[in-house]
Amino acid sequence: MEKMIEERRRSFQDKCLENGLKITPQRMAIYDELVGAKDHPCVDDLYRRVRKALPNISFDTVYRTLLSFSDAGIVRVVEGYGELKRFDPDTENHHHLRCLRCQKIIDFSNSTYDALKVPTEFDGEFTIVNKRVVLEGICKECSKKK
Ligand SMILES: [Zn+2]
Ligand SMILES: [Zn+2]
Repeated sequence: MEKMIEERRRSFQDKCLENGLKITPQRMAIYDELVGAKDHPCVDDLYRRVRKALPNISFDTVYRTLLSFSDAGIVRVVEGYGELKRFDPDTENHHHLRCLRCQKIIDFSNSTYDALKVPTEFDGEFTIVNKRVVLEGICKECSKKK
């Protein structure tokens, strides 16, 4: 876990350099909050967490920073249906379980899903840049509360 975070931090710095993003204390603090997050936080969640370290930061700054991270390939924006965007510090290919009640998103790996073939009817019609399987349902905690 620690090692993975170290690697992500290093690649964060590389990608900032590559994309001409200066590594400011604000960007660093926002990334620090996100890097170890397992819950695919939305901008609201991150704003609340970052404010503990930087009480004067604005919501807008956090939002714009996250979008610039996403443009630079530092984070991924993951599926949200009409709700706030959610951010994922894991840019490697992986899949998601998503709870339809509490909106929790859980990561998982599966080699069968990784190997899914794109239907040939999309050839020349649509360039696939990312394949992710999202399994939707009800998590254990939510199924206990009725
Ligand atoms: Zn749930
Ligand atoms: Zn994820």
